[in-house]
Parts: sequence; C-alpha cells; structure tokens
Amino acid sequence: MAKWVLGELVNVSALQAMADHLYAISAVPIGIIDSNDNVLVNVGWQDICSKFHRNHPVASERCRISDEYIKKYLHEGHYVEYKCLNNLRDVALPIIVSGEHIATLFVGQFFYEDEVLDIEYFRKQATELGFDEEEYLSALSRIPVFSREKINHIMEYYKGLVTTLVESSMARIKQIEADEKLRKNEVRMRNLLQSMRDTVFVIDEEGTFVECYQSSDMILYATPEVFLGQKYEKILPPEVSILFTNVITRLKEGEVVEPFDYSLKIGDEILWYSAQVSKVKEEGKKTGEIIVVVRDITDKKKYEKELLKAKSEAEAVNNMKNTFIANMSHELRTPINVILSAIQLFELNLKNSLDINSYNSSKHIKAMKQNCHRLLRIINNQIDVTKIEAGFMNLNPRDMNVVSIVEDITLSVAEYAKAKGLYVQFDTEIEEKVMALDPDKLERIILNLLSNAIKFTDKNGNIFVNIYDKETSILISIKDTGIGIPSDKVNKILERFIQVENTLIKSHEGSGIGLSIVKSFVEMHGGTITVLSELGVGSEFLIELPVTTVHKQCNEHCIIPRSTQDYVEMLNIEFSDIYY
Ligand code: ADP
Repeated sequence: MAKWVLGELVNVSALQAMADHLYAISAVPIGIIDSNDNVLVNVGWQDICSKFHRNHPVASERCRISDEYIKKYLHEGHYVEYKCLNNLRDVALPIIVSGEHIATLFVGQFFYEDEVLDIEYFRKQATELGFDEEEYLSALSRIPVFSREKINHIMEYYKGLVTTLVESSMARIKQIEADEKLRKNEVRMRNLLQSMRDTVFVIDEEGTFVECYQSSDMILYATPEVFLGQKYEKILPPEVSILFTNVITRLKEGEVVEPFDYSLKIGDEILWYSAQVSKVKEEGKKTGEIIVVVRDITDKKKYEKELLKAKSEAEAVNNMKNTFIANMSHELRTPINVILSAIQLFELNLKNSLDINSYNSSKHIKAMKQNCHRLLRIINNQIDVTKIEAGFMNLNPRDMNVVSIVEDITLSVAEYAKAKGLYVQFDTEIEEKVMALDPDKLERIILNLLSNAIKFTDKNGNIFVNIYDKETSILISIKDTGIGIPSDKVNKILERFIQVENTLIKSHEGSGIGLSIVKSFVEMHGGTITVLSELGVGSEFLIELPVTTVHKQCNEHCIIPRSTQDYVEMLNIEFSDIYY
C-alpha cells in the first residue's frame, strides 16, 4: 500500500477536464491510474480494450503482464513506449513522488501510421478467444492512428504536466506533514498542560474565557465547556470576580501582580485556589489576552490552619513556661541576696579576727561569694531574656546627657581594669549631647561591653571608649586590643547562646546571652550595633543611637545614683564566671 495517494494530493477533476479538452483537439486517448489500480483520469479509451481484452480472462492476463512489464521499466522523467501482448501501442509515464511510484500516466491505445496493421492476427485472436469477429474488427478499426512526431509532442507535453503534478504533490505533502506535526504538537501541549498540577485559562480582552486546560488532578467550579465562551464576571461569584477585575486592571496598568488566593464553594465543600495572572506575550503582538494559572491549595490551607493552631498552642505553653521561669528567677534572687549578705557579714568578722585559720576561711568565703555572684548573673540575664522574649521589657526614656553616663561608667571601670593590668582610655568629640535614653539599659549596655573587653584582653592591653557626634546620631565605640573573634563568628556573636570556643580562656564559663541582651537594648533605642574584630588583634563594638528627645527630664528617682563601689559590685557579678 503506497503511503501517498495521488487522488489526495492533486485536483483530479481539474486534471480530467484538461484531459477532455486536449482529447477534443488531439484525439489522443489518455489514462492516469494510481498504484492501487484506481482510474483517476480517463478519456478516449478504446472499446477493443474495455469491451474485449479487459473482459476476457486470457486477454486480460496479457494486459496484466503488459502492465507489469511497463511498471518494471518505468523510470522517473522517462516514458516507456511498448506494444502490448494484445498487439496494441501504449506509452506510459511514471508519476514518482518522494521516491514512491504512486501512479502511471498512459497514452494509448493507438497505432503508428508508418506500421502495417496485421488484420489477420486480430481475426485469428477473435476466433481463438471467441469474440464476435465483426464487432471486434469494427472496434479495431476505431483505434486511432498517429504519426510518431505527434506522439512525441504529446509525450513531451505530458512529461511537463507530470513534473508539475509531482512538484505540487510534494508541496501538498509538505503541507500535510506540517499540519500533522502541528496537530501532534497541539495534542502534546494539551496533554502536558492537563498533566500539570495547575489549570490554565486564557481570557480575551473582553474578559471571555477562550481557552481552558484543566489539570486532571483538579476540581473546577464548572467544566471547561461551561467556562469557554463565557465572561468571567458572569460565571464566577461576585466576590471572586472582583478579585480578578482588580488584578487584571493592575496588570493592564503595567504592574507586576503577585499570585492571590480565593475560595469557592463547590458542592458541600469550600475549595481554596491560588491564581497567578499574567499578560499573554506574543512576539511583535499586543494581544491584550490574560493567562490565569490556577492551583488547588485546599490542602495547604488546611495544614496552614492546623499549623497556626499548633503555633498559638505552643506559644501559650511557651508563655506559661516563661512566666514560670521569670517567677522562679525572681524567687531565687531573694535567698541568694540573703546568703550574700550573710557572707559579707562573715567576711567583715573574719577581717577583724585573729584566728589562725582565717586565711583558709576567707578563701572559702571568697568562693561562696563568687558563686553567689555567678548565680545572680545567670538569674539576672535569664530574667532579662524572658522579659524581652515576652515583650515585657519596656524602655523608659528620659532626655539625658549620653556623654556623662558613658564617661561615669568608663571611669569607674578604669580602676577595676587597672588592677588587672589593663588601661582604659575615654575620649569624646562632644562634651554634652542630651537625648532620649533609658539610663538603666544604657548602663547595662556599656558595662557588658566593657566587662567583655576586660575579660577577653590580656594583661597590658588597652581598652578605648570613644564617643563620636554624627549630629542625628551618636556613635559609641568600645574597642580593645584583646584576643579578637574568629571571622566566622563575628556576625553571629550577637545572637543568643553564641560563644567562641577559646582554649586561651578556659576558665570563662558564660552563657552566651549577654551580647544578645545588649543588642535588644540597643534596638529598643532604635539603634544598631556592629562588631568589627580580628583574631589576635582586637575587637570593636560600635553602637549607633539616634538623637531624639522625649521632653521628659530625669529627676532624682529615674536613675539610681551609683558609686564606684556599686560599679565594682556590678563588675564582680559580671566577672563571676571567670576563675582566676
Ligand atoms: P557570655 O555571657 O558568654 O560572656 P556574651 O554574649 O557577652 O556571652 O559574649 C559571647 C561571646 O562573645 C563570648 O563568650 C566571647 O567568646 C565573645 N566575645 C564577646 N566580647 C568579646 C571581646 N571583646 N573580645 C573577644 N571575644 C568577645
């Protein structure tokens, strides 16, 4: 079976009309028969063939053998001239398309005028095959006779016609193949789109659904057939339609629109969808069409709801836990302070004692006192962290001179540092800057940074405290020439529980929350804290606080006046995690 059929590639009725006209002026019979033996064109076919030879088993077998012969010797662009086994003349021209012989053009039957007709042969054939001799010879007499020249002209004409037929067939085949490819692509695209988790809609400029590729996994508000040809405003519930109108308007104004969620009641169920709406882009065209990619997010919404519930339950439990820890911490502070007072009393008594064991006793008392301080430090930090986490840590700002607060603390600490072989230097660009500050918190910030600087700087090191005026803000720098912080830790050091593994200072047992409290306090002031550090060279903590005022002055109650002794006591608590 041939792949291509000539009748499907060319206009057969136009060919038949051409053949008819040519026959009218030339009287040359012609036929076009395809490879499935279908007669596509025929004119002037002779009775001797159609009524006698093709109708008789012996003669028609001769016809078949002749046809086989012709087929065998046909070559593209050439015609074969032959005398069939029934003694008639024929010329055949193959029609070969894409290497496939799909039809044959026959010119015949006829006789050449220069050949002598062997009447006796045909008379004998009539007797042999049982034909009516008179009618058979009469049919024979009607066979046209042509000059060789005329047949040559006719065959050259048909060669040209066949060439044209082959070319137009090829063009048609290309077209059919391209259409088939396009159709296959369309089917594939549709299959791909329908295999997606999303359903895709195309809406035209008037708001009508013009295409719909429903994901096989998705339940829609209506079937694609119902959507197609309908305006979205008509088919979707008003509350959803408004969302689409809003998004489409924004898109048309050139905005980039993020996906939005909406819900639809389908049957007894509420289903949630997420829609991504974009403009259709077509090269060189302003289509005005909108593409909507819709995803079913019902399950996600369900999980989100469950997650939110679980989160708020967990938060409630966490709050309860925080309240418990805060209460416990407060409760613990009282007995420790009582113990501390008792220890201080012992200390005093021991100072005045002449007991020879007093050296040993004072060693034990010192250890007891240091451990009480450690407990207080842990508890104080814990109370602060809990308060910050629960959002109960309040800022009590007053308009105060930042320079004097920082200077007082630094100078008080300088003495303490000197006893440890460290030099503290204070310098400032301005003498006074009144701004809104919570004095307690600023004190904690500076004290914590100074105590860290002292803790992590070796003997004979330096600590510099500088205040820079940046007009709209104040920059406080606390810089040391200490051990520094490894580069991979610098950015994390302000986070809670982060400490640097330090083999040099094995005796330090902090909890890694001091700096996180400092950061929170700075941020409560609307400020920022930055750390610059180089291992083995030193560290610098930069605090930038905005200059604002709250028009509230500080009276004598808003700040507890501290003596150097107070700061020393506070530093003792800060340093209690170091065993000398
Ligand atoms: P801790 O209570 O452990 O002292 P901090 O939050 O105050 O916690 O400090 C966290 C860690 O940051 C410290 O353990 C130390 O490793 C590092 N660090 C803080 N300040 C300095 C500094 N000035 N020089 C070097 N390392 C520092």
